[in-house]
Amino acid sequence: MTCNEVPRVIDAYLDGELSVAATLQAHEHFALYENCRRILESEAALHGLLVQAARAEPVPAELRSQVLRSLPTVGARTHPARRLIARFGLVSGFVGLAVVGWLATERLALHPMTPLAAELASKHLLYGEGAAARSSW
Ligand SMILES: [Zn+2]
Repeated sequence: MTCNEVPRVIDAYLDGELSVAATLQAHEHFALYENCRRILESEAALHGLLVQAARAEPVPAELRSQVLRSLPTVGARTHPARRLIARFGLVSGFVGLAVVGWLATERLALHPMTPLAAELASKHLLYGEGAAARSSW
């Protein structure tokens, strides 16, 4: 992230709307550049005042229903925390695959296959692939 990009992302950053990667980049940038950190601090203060003012002000019923009507569907936008959880799920899936792969190679190393077993296993894989390809047509 460059200093020129900071004004563009600062609101999303304060609202927690950036992706995890972008949030980390912004975080790193604010740690490195004092000027941008000052901008962040003043924006955060303004942000806090706006949130306070908005909470103190009762929302007119008509405005509320208009806003609610204009929303596509409630919960359609993915919450950052949910994205994080999804990403964690993906990562743990990969870890799981890695463990399965490791266990498989470990087993193969401990019990080398006989040529017959190896042939059967490769045929099984071949048929398995064929079945998967057929089912996806
Ligand atoms: Zn900067």
